[in-house]
Amino acid sequence: MQIVHYVEELRGIISEAKKQGKSIGFVPTMGYLHEGHLSLARRARGENGLVVMSIFVNPLQFGVNEDYEDYPRDLSRDAPMAEAAGVDVLFCPGVADMYPRGYATFVEVEEITAVLCGASRPGHFRGVTTVVAKLFGLVQPDRAYFGQKDAQQLRVIEKMVEDLNMPVEIVPCPTVRELDGLAMSSRNAYLSPREREAALVLNRSLRRAEEAIRAGERDANRIREQVAAMIREEPLAEIDYVSVNDGVTLREIERIGDRVMVALAVRIGMTRLIDNLQMNLGGEG
Ligand code: AMP
Repeated sequence: MQIVHYVEELRGIISEAKKQGKSIGFVPTMGYLHEGHLSLARRARGENGLVVMSIFVNPLQFGVNEDYEDYPRDLSRDAPMAEAAGVDVLFCPGVADMYPRGYATFVEVEEITAVLCGASRPGHFRGVTTVVAKLFGLVQPDRAYFGQKDAQQLRVIEKMVEDLNMPVEIVPCPTVRELDGLAMSSRNAYLSPREREAALVLNRSLRRAEEAIRAGERDANRIREQVAAMIREEPLAEIDYVSVNDGVTLREIERIGDRVMVALAVRIGMTRLIDNLQMNLGGEG
């Protein structure tokens, strides 16, 4: 595995791979890798001639009072994990190389970025789409792999690619969880043992919603209320949002139809965690 720190060096590797006719699979991350990231890399390994993973804690997608400075970073831990998952090129650029003095170009997807995490993190998705568009320009992937854990991010990237006719296939990958159900996240490293226990309320409330929907509940408000009530029982948890939306436009719904996403953002102490459940009920009544 090659570890690459500079844009110009990456360009050389990509143009060589293209000359050799290799397909390129790309996994963008902010590092501090866990099984969620590695599942994306393994999938990419199985489907492409060259696998590129980026590790870049992107300052543009963090708000002023967010955890940019504290976000965990450890390349010596990440590199062997990426290599074992089949990554060929680990691209770890510096901020000054990605956003040199005078940098002035941004990519913004409207509407679906105004709700859910976009509502509580203004500018977040603008930062995400800008860096992902830039990375797509550099890596020129045939396929790019994104986790369903960040369901809104995945929709926003799909929309950007569709609207800007970017020649890349977006491959959604399922959420990887700890044995007890907590969705893996680099931010789980912030949790104290007591908070780690409290964080289970996200998955628990989603499983409760899933059961209720499977049992025939179609009133979205009842689901919102059940989920919110369950989270409120956990003293360390503070709700940012509980959404029952259609999974595509991300608009809140009243009645649950063929497709539904239940999405949560919950603060556990100082740590903001997200999780979601997506169900396709077509044919199930
Ligand atoms: P991050 O490093 O948090 O920006 O995540 C990089 C990529 O890994 C994104 O596409 C995430 O959706 C994906 N990812 C993060 N956590 C998980 C998880 N638990 N399961 C699957 N994919 C994940």
